[in-house]
Amino acid sequence: MEYETVIGLEVHVELNTKTKIFCSCSTAFGAKANTQICPVCAGLPGALPVLNRQVLTAAVRAGLALNCEIAERTRFDRKNYFYPDNPQNYQISQLYLPICKKGYMEFDTGEGRKKVRIHDIHMEEDAGKLYHDSEKGVSYADYNRAGVPLLEIVTEPDMRSGEEAVAFLEKLKSRLRYLGISDCRMQEGSMRADVNLSVRPAGSSEYGTRTEMKNLSSYTAVREAAAAETKRQIAILESGGSVMRETRRFDEKKKESTGMRGKEGAEDYRYFPEPDLKAVYIAKETTEKLRAQMPEFSEEKTERFCREYGLGAKDAALLCRERKMAELFEQTVSLGAEAKSVSNWLNGETLKLMAEREVADELRFTADRLYKLIKLIKDGIINNTTAKEVFENMYDDNTDPEKYVEEKGLAQSSDEDEIRELCMQVFNANPDAVSDYRNGKGRALGFLVGCVMKAGSGKVEPKTVTKVMKECLEKG
Ligand SMILES: [Zn+2]
Repeated sequence: MEYETVIGLEVHVELNTKTKIFCSCSTAFGAKANTQICPVCAGLPGALPVLNRQVLTAAVRAGLALNCEIAERTRFDRKNYFYPDNPQNYQISQLYLPICKKGYMEFDTGEGRKKVRIHDIHMEEDAGKLYHDSEKGVSYADYNRAGVPLLEIVTEPDMRSGEEAVAFLEKLKSRLRYLGISDCRMQEGSMRADVNLSVRPAGSSEYGTRTEMKNLSSYTAVREAAAAETKRQIAILESGGSVMRETRRFDEKKKESTGMRGKEGAEDYRYFPEPDLKAVYIAKETTEKLRAQMPEFSEEKTERFCREYGLGAKDAALLCRERKMAELFEQTVSLGAEAKSVSNWLNGETLKLMAEREVADELRFTADRLYKLIKLIKDGIINNTTAKEVFENMYDDNTDPEKYVEEKGLAQSSDEDEIRELCMQVFNANPDAVSDYRNGKGRALGFLVGCVMKAGSGKVEPKTVTKVMKECLEKG
């Protein structure tokens, strides 16, 4: 029998607000354990939460970017459960009146356009972190992360493979990064995906029993977990068994999942409206104002770059993957640099250095620096090899290319007398090549030019060298 995989995602995205969702503690990453806590986020009795306005705005903007309906009245609910990383013994989340619902997002897959519906987006607080020292048999709790704002984005079961799930996550990441509300780094945990998966006979319209794989932290893990779980469920069904509704943990090394616990339903959490927070009313005008301020997202931008700057679709898409890169491109071109050169420097050397330095989104150099670098090459002051050296310094420290070239004495000489001198030396050392050229072997010229470049330690301008050399040879 043929089977079809059915996948729905629950994606947790950490918002990059300066302070936590219900108190004014810092959200900065990497601080000493338990130094960014207060009575509210440490869950002390009697401490009262106050909603961070930035979280609300970010949630509305995310909803608009995912074509959702924005609630006019939204409220928080209390999700009760005990876990040592959760100091209140409940999590403030949303169940009954989430901020956004009924949205969708479209994206391209290898097999055409795909539309995935969004069930809802809700705001909630993150839990703390536990560290287990198995040698000492001790566990430590760090509550710095408790109360960091999260958006949970819940899709309908509209994806049919791990590939589609990954394509969805990529598009989601792109949109949220363009909004600037989260950096969505899966490796660092600022975006985490739960995969809900079931299988069913191909052509069937009923859903099979689903399992949930929690906290996948890379695209590869999503792809592999989906493949492994599909296989596992099919094997159960083929042998006449039935799939159990449960939460499973995927082991990224072994590439297999193990059962963690029976899946809880909403009723197990004894949700009830959060009594410490009032309902929030969002004026229609506020939503419309935010809608009018939506950025141009990567797809539209890519199309415009092709149209306006005559770039190829691949180059344009690469430039528009990150908003900052796309903006740097446009700024540099507006200063007068040629679009194709700017695109080459950004998609070539820049991406290469980003990968090597592993600081994916910290572009330190400014448009005027890149413009100057391109101009130095165009004016024949530096060659491509030197340009790469200059670029690397500019990339790391935003150094001024003109100053750098001057200080390091990297400028190429176009001084014809100096070049003529070098030509004579090279002719004397290579009489055979000279006579080859005179006997009509054009290739000898390239060799001789190369010798002059070498004699000038690469600091003579090649076009001038060719011009001067031809004159010398013709004059005899
Ligand atoms: Zn706090």
